[in-house]
Parts: sequence; C-alpha cells; structure tokens
Amino acid sequence: MVLPGATIGVLGSGQLGRMFAISARRMGYRVHTFSPDEDTPTGQVADLEINAAYDDLDAVRKFASGVSVVTFEFENVPGATAEAAAACAPVRPAGDVLHVTQHRLREKTFLAKHGFPVTEFHAVRSEAALRQAWHGPSILKSAGFGYDGKGQFTIRNVDEIGDAWKHMRQEAVLESMVDFECEFSVVAARTEDGNFIHYEPSRNNHVRGILDICSSPAALPPNVVRDAVAMTRSLLESLCVVGVLCVEFFLTRTGKILVNELAPRPHNSGHLTIDACITSQFEQQLRAVCGLPLGSPRMFRPAAMANLLGDLWDGGEPDWRAACSLPAAKLHLYGKLAARPGRKMGHLTATADTPGEAETLVRRARASLL
Ligand code: AMP
Repeated sequence: MVLPGATIGVLGSGQLGRMFAISARRMGYRVHTFSPDEDTPTGQVADLEINAAYDDLDAVRKFASGVSVVTFEFENVPGATAEAAAACAPVRPAGDVLHVTQHRLREKTFLAKHGFPVTEFHAVRSEAALRQAWHGPSILKSAGFGYDGKGQFTIRNVDEIGDAWKHMRQEAVLESMVDFECEFSVVAARTEDGNFIHYEPSRNNHVRGILDICSSPAALPPNVVRDAVAMTRSLLESLCVVGVLCVEFFLTRTGKILVNELAPRPHNSGHLTIDACITSQFEQQLRAVCGLPLGSPRMFRPAAMANLLGDLWDGGEPDWRAACSLPAAKLHLYGKLAARPGRKMGHLTATADTPGEAETLVRRARASLL
C-alpha cells in the first residue's frame, strides 16, 4: 500500500494530471510529473516537473526510481516508456491496458473478441481496401493516436472516399455511422483485489467530435444503465484494470447499447464528480493506484459540465467575474499558456435539483463569459 506522504509519478502533464495532483496533494502525497513540456497544467501543481522526451528511457527510469507508484494521465505514452517505468516502480493501470486502448484497431478487436457490442468495423490499410470495405455512411478513424475527433473523416458517399484516404494515409478503422439516440459514458474504478465502483452514467453531447456538455444522472432507461454498468465492470475485469477507466457508449434509436471507446484514466465526462460526488474520479484513481480502499461515488446533487475551449478567447480574455456571479457554477481552469481553437482550457460545473436544470445553469454560466 502506498500511503500519504509517499510520492506518486504521473506520466503526462495535462489537465487530467493536474486534477489528479490536486487530489493527491490534498491527501498529503507528493507528485512528480514527466512529459516533454514545461510549465504544464500538471507541473504547475506538482512537487516536481520533469521535462524529457517519452523515449528518453534513462530519464524515464530515473523518474520511476524516485516514486512509489507510476500512473498516467495520457494514454498515448509509448509502450517502451511504460515498460521502462515498470522496471523501477509499479505502473497502474499496467502497460498492457495502454497497449490495447491506445490503438483503435487493437481496442475494437479486443472488444469484439470478448463479446462486447461494437459498431461494425473494418481494418483499412490502403485506398483499395477502403473502397472495398465502404458500404454506406461511415467514419474513417486513424488506428493510432486519435482523440477528440482528431484523425477522423466522415464518408457519406462514394465520391468522398479518395479525399478521406488522401488525408488519412495510415492504418485506419472504417466504422459504420451509428444513428444514435444519445451518447453516454460510465466512469469506474477497480482495485488490485477486485473491488469495483462506478459513477452514475453521464449523458454526453459532442460538437465537432469534442465533448461539449455533459449531465448526470443521464436519464436513461433502467435496463440500459444496468447493462452498461455490467459491461463496464466486465471490461475492467477482463483488462485487469487497477485504476480508473471510462467506457463511452452509443444508445441507438432501436435501444441497443454499443461500446464506442475506452479511456484507461479519468475522463472529461467525469469532471463533474469533483463538485457533485463524495469522491471524485481523480481521488478514486489515487486510491486505486495506491492500494487504498475506494471512496463512495455517490452524487450529492445532479450536475452538468460545460467545456471551455480555446475558441472562447477569440475576443480576448473571457469574463471570469460574470461566470462566478452564478453561485451554483464552479470554475476550473487548467493553467494552459496559450488558447487555441478546440483546445480544452477549462470547464464549468453546475449542480441543481435536476440534470436538466444543471445543464441550463452551466450553459448560462458559459454564455456569460462572452
Ligand atoms: P471518438 O473519438 O471515436 O470517440 O469519436 C468522437 C465523436 O464522434 C463521438 O463521440 C461521436 O459523437 C462521433 N462518432 C464517432 N464514431 C461514430 C460513429 N461510428 N457513428 C456516429 N458518430 C460517431
């Protein structure tokens, strides 16, 4: 067991690491973060920020030797990096969870092989293969290094195939387009001895492939919640996850559940757990990777979260005072030095008597920034 006072290592240095580090420091841990960048969201609140390339394995080993356990906030850390760290300290979740989830084709193949329902998909490595696999409205997604809708091209008709491949030119997955009723996700945590908790599902709205607003509880039929939670539990078990994992789902118009994607770490749709639950997803990650008992995931009140993307800075600094003048809204900023369109700079959370009211409030708070 890794107890308060010990040092935790975080591979990656973005906002997920920052919110993890805030939880860890509150509970008396020290945090070292490792990434190629300087003055990062995580580095600003960590005890130590180490700047080195992920493939500088000597630096990785030195970093891991100085901590009691290593976790990550960025699942595109190379496999060799996780392996080098694992030679010096426990890495949780283990490197093989990263291996599966950082590559769409491996992830989809794993899901299908283990009987989880997924969208029909084909591996595509050339334009000819793409033409052969395409049978109707689809999305072409790069197999590696994709997030927030990056590396994705919608192909609605046959004339769009050539252009989509021109932009892709790498191993990809062709997925049929799902006519969904809604998207939702379940964030869950598991300890080494198999204890499991899950949060209330959250209902997620994406704009241009990026999460925009989510609300929780998700107001889904009880059988959908039951089946999604059962799938989530069985996924954490089959991957032997020690830590937090989020499963993103589609609910189709015919009432079917499909697994869209896995994230082996706290997730954007779980940020509202900081302000709305007894134990946040970040504290849960800390507890799981340290071998502590998990905390209660119970929600105090329905909540909604709105992302603040760099686009909000187009007309200058947003009006923070206006957002803070709504007493039920909570502002979270990640300390990123430059605002760019589509870049996640922060989020707002609101709580209310119903998820719908929380969503109205959080939308109002975000609109007041402009
Ligand atoms: P992903 O990075 O795979 O999670 O995709 C980002 C977003 O694009 C999803 O949250 C959906 O809103 C949309 N999307 C992805 N795949 C599909 C699909 N097969 N059918 C319909 N929409 C999709």
